[in-house]
Amino acid sequence: MAQNNESEILRKLKSLCKRRGIIFPGSEIYQGFANQWDLGPLGTEMARNIRTMWWDRFVQDREAIVGLDSAIIVNPKVWQASGHVENFNDPLVDCKDCRERFRGDYLLAEELGGNFDGLPLEHISKLIAENNVCCPNCGGQLSQARKFNCMFKTHVGPVEGAGSEAYLRPETAQGIFYNFALVQQSMRLRIPFGIAQVGKAFRNEITTGNFVFRPREFEQMEIEYFCRPGTDREHFERWQEEAWEYYISLGLSAEKLRWRQHGKEELSHYSNRTVDLEYLFPWGKWGELEGIASRTDYDLKQHAALSGQKLEYEDPQTRERYVPYVVEPSFGLNRALLAILCDAYREEEVRGEKRVVLGLKTEVAACKVAVFPLSKKDKLVAVSKPLFDDIRKRWPAIPDTIGSIGKRYRRHDEIGTPYCITVDFETLDDNAATVRNRDSMQQDRVSLDRMVGYLEDKLDR
Ligand code: ATP
Repeated sequence: MAQNNESEILRKLKSLCKRRGIIFPGSEIYQGFANQWDLGPLGTEMARNIRTMWWDRFVQDREAIVGLDSAIIVNPKVWQASGHVENFNDPLVDCKDCRERFRGDYLLAEELGGNFDGLPLEHISKLIAENNVCCPNCGGQLSQARKFNCMFKTHVGPVEGAGSEAYLRPETAQGIFYNFALVQQSMRLRIPFGIAQVGKAFRNEITTGNFVFRPREFEQMEIEYFCRPGTDREHFERWQEEAWEYYISLGLSAEKLRWRQHGKEELSHYSNRTVDLEYLFPWGKWGELEGIASRTDYDLKQHAALSGQKLEYEDPQTRERYVPYVVEPSFGLNRALLAILCDAYREEEVRGEKRVVLGLKTEVAACKVAVFPLSKKDKLVAVSKPLFDDIRKRWPAIPDTIGSIGKRYRRHDEIGTPYCITVDFETLDDNAATVRNRDSMQQDRVSLDRMVGYLEDKLDR
């Protein structure tokens, strides 16, 4: 396998994603905007697979987790109660010369190594001064760190003013908390149970970069798991195991995954224990894919206090009433997609030629099967069309008639298509076609009558 410099891989991956319809720079014809990215046709399929695998595993396959789809812009009191208006801040520092703005804790991490998330502003300013940390752009002097609230503000209704201000949600979790009683009662759920939600969240991040690692608009897949106080620790550990298994099922290498526990200073205002599941990205740093937080009864109590509504659970047997504790596994879809792409990307040499492959798990691959008639001759198209239609009914598939078969294989290797089928002139005699495996490049001659069964064995294991 060819050896590559790490950030070089990211550059190649970005270009591949754009060329092959996986991820496009957002608003590209206007030179992009605010680190936004759009999923192309194949990225959309991959994201759908990641989402479906998550939903099937954590919601569909269990009794005690139900789904929810709450609004993105909600009563701003939600964000007062949750503490986001007061506490959802990043430490901002300015360069006094070039006016560029940075996240103080990340500058320290770059300069000194280690993790400075959650450090109080005065400590950040002190460390910057003590260690002579300068502007990475121009070497200028940096300002003191100050609070920057990461929520996007907007106005609701035709009049802009103090009363119309609202926020785009910075996490999907709060929709679950303020709906707690409605969901529990309407679905007659007994503790322990979970409410799951998948959807967009928005954060006005100071630092961006590294492709789709930290866009300002991203998709979260979250579960709030409500349990009896005192049992939260055991649920927390079980969620760690389950989350690990999910990422392995997406195809990530176990040796590039690790848990990192938050230190006291780093803990969010609502949490008494948090661990992050991190992935070793090709730019040489571990980055968070998922956080599991023990949120105690903080959110339910806060919403109960501000709304004046009871957000409690009554045990149907003992009649005991209490505010449940919450364990929250919070997954990021964009980061899962990025980690999958990084893990799957490989370059190989085949008979003196370079081949780029996305070695994706079949469950994650956007296209499962490609069908190539060897030539555009009517006779071959007439055979391959019904074959393609049969396959397309079962799996996402692409017909490809352009260029030599070798070129078509290379294109599909680059998007990670696990199986390519070539219909050739012999097909007209033996009613069979050649199926080529992406990874082994082994070719099997398979009768057209048996083709769907053959693919079922490979794809629906
Ligand atoms: P980070 O420390 O990287 O900013 P965070 O600790 O603020 O992340 P959480 O609030 O725990 O993130 O959010 C849960 C998950 O949402 C993260 O594990 C991540 O996968 C995802 N996420 C958060 N912010 C972003 C973002 N700007 N872009 C993409 N995904 C994000």
